[in-house]
Amino acid sequence: MKIYNFNAGPSVLPETVIKKSAQAVIDYHQHGLSLLEISHRSKDFLEILEKTTNLVKRLMNLNDGYAVLFLQGGATLQFTMVPYNLMKKEAAYLDTGIWANKAIQEARKFGKVRIIFSGIEKNYSYISKNYHIPDHVDYFHCTSNNTIVGTQMKNFPISSIPMICDMSSDIFSRKLDFCQFGLIYASAQKNISSAGMTIVIVRKEILGKIKKEIPSYLDYKIHIKNKSILNTPNIFSIYTSMLTLEWIEKKGGISILEKENQQKAKLLYEEIDRNNLFENKIHKEDRSNMNVTFFLKKKHLESKFNETWEKENIVGLDGHRSLGGYRASIYNALPLESVQFLISIMKEFEKKFS
Ligand code: PMP
Repeated sequence: MKIYNFNAGPSVLPETVIKKSAQAVIDYHQHGLSLLEISHRSKDFLEILEKTTNLVKRLMNLNDGYAVLFLQGGATLQFTMVPYNLMKKEAAYLDTGIWANKAIQEARKFGKVRIIFSGIEKNYSYISKNYHIPDHVDYFHCTSNNTIVGTQMKNFPISSIPMICDMSSDIFSRKLDFCQFGLIYASAQKNISSAGMTIVIVRKEILGKIKKEIPSYLDYKIHIKNKSILNTPNIFSIYTSMLTLEWIEKKGGISILEKENQQKAKLLYEEIDRNNLFENKIHKEDRSNMNVTFFLKKKHLESKFNETWEKENIVGLDGHRSLGGYRASIYNALPLESVQFLISIMKEFEKKFS
């Protein structure tokens, strides 16, 4: 049965990743053992780890100054690890959404947080381009894609202050100069892997500047030294990352995905803007190419619209519980066909109820 999966995360993955990982769970490389049964110190897993690291470096064009880590604890643990490792006194944060705000709340436990832009008063419906990063802060933190409200940073500031970015919901979706960031973190699962793994990409020279002792699991330097196997890693998630990154490379890399993502987003926003029954509340230049949020102009039609898409095997279209409305998450692995199908449903609904 064909399912159109618009889940915000965990979300749709390439079919080949599902099939190959299922096979690996049954019998990894015909060795007679499941992937779930191999040691994290085994040759098999060390090969997976090396391949995955090299794929990240290649796809992102990272130079040798960067380390790639595969950790646990989600982006949520990164909200703590970033200030633990990098904050001496003060850091600058952009408050562009609910996740960015959670990062701010954690950072406050380590020092002074200077919020240099907050969109909270305007329901996070836009991202300012006119903020200033003070010269004296230890780092600047931003969220490249705001998964819940559906905004995306299209430009990043030029500054000598290390830029730390939560890319959980748009990593590998568009070409960027990734070496402009001091540290990038992205938790699975959206564009990579299965849940339970977080990629951290860090420019090594920004580490080691704070004096206080850091608990081992929270210390990036210790993870770098131990090559992501300080403790038992999430073998399955790292393997599915490898498969997802291989799929990206086979397709031709991030720039191909970027084009596809732009096309899907453009079609869907055009329909929302055209259709009499729907609206999007985000400033046009800040609209996300990953999470497209929209609302019915007439709230009483909600149950009818829900009935319509649910009947058509569309899943995951509900907006975040804090916002309501609808959210179509159109990550890398979502086929264009799914967007076209959703658009056809929206058009039919308009014909019936406009
Ligand atoms: N940051 C962003 C941008 C997110 O979308 C999410 C969750 N999907 C998180 C942080 C939190 O991630 P996790 O649940 O892995 O801690």
